[in-house]
Amino acid sequence: MHFNILTIFPEMFPGTLSGGVVGRALEKGIWSFDAINIRDFAINNYGSVDDEQFGGGVGMVMRPDVLGNALDSVKNRGKIIYFSPRGPTLNQHMVREFANDKNATYTLLCGRYEGIDQRVIEEYDIMELSIGDYILSGGEIAAQVFVDSVVRVMDNVLGGGVEATANESFEIGGLEWPLYTRPSAWRGRNVPEVLLSGHHGNIERWRKQQSDEITKQRRPDLIKEK
Ligand code: SAH
Repeated sequence: MHFNILTIFPEMFPGTLSGGVVGRALEKGIWSFDAINIRDFAINNYGSVDDEQFGGGVGMVMRPDVLGNALDSVKNRGKIIYFSPRGPTLNQHMVREFANDKNATYTLLCGRYEGIDQRVIEEYDIMELSIGDYILSGGEIAAQVFVDSVVRVMDNVLGGGVEATANESFEIGGLEWPLYTRPSAWRGRNVPEVLLSGHHGNIERWRKQQSDEITKQRRPDLIKEK
């Protein structure tokens, strides 16, 4: 999988994506990226990529001519995604869909300032995608969230194979059950007896029941979705 990342802060990549399983996948060549500096396509020697908003108001907007030239510099763009609070919110189902084709290319456009000129979105048939109902100062963190979540579910990224991701919150149609590891007794708190019993049927039932309970309390909306 390949990502073309358009940003005015190319030094922010791979950033957090260099660590852990996703970082190892980068080293193994399961995914690759090019960070393209939008400033290289600036309209003047000052490196301007933004301008005042038509119609007035505070805040600058990224110029379509600059972004158009930056996008045109990418030979194989694949699907173009602009991170924006206006898009549908990324969820695990969408993550799976994006991860489906291991040879896919995605071009990720990281906005800054107030965002980008609307005409760019139309001209390149760009998909808008949000990572949640809050406002970031730029799309770079959103791009890292996207790459991390998508690469993570690709084959040979997590140890433990299919099972490692199949048991996760959202994948099981709800939230995960409580997790425990050694020591079995800690500060007077004991691990639930059933988990030490070795009885797989009982353990599975307990986990299912815990998961249902927690989901019902915290995220009833996930149950309705099922
Ligand atoms: N004026 C915009 C917010 C601009 S924030 C609005 O009101 O909708 C600056 C940039 O940060 C955006 O262009 C976008 O690329 C990124 N960004 C901010 N919040 C985001 C979110 N929730 N999801 C994805 N990207 C976001």
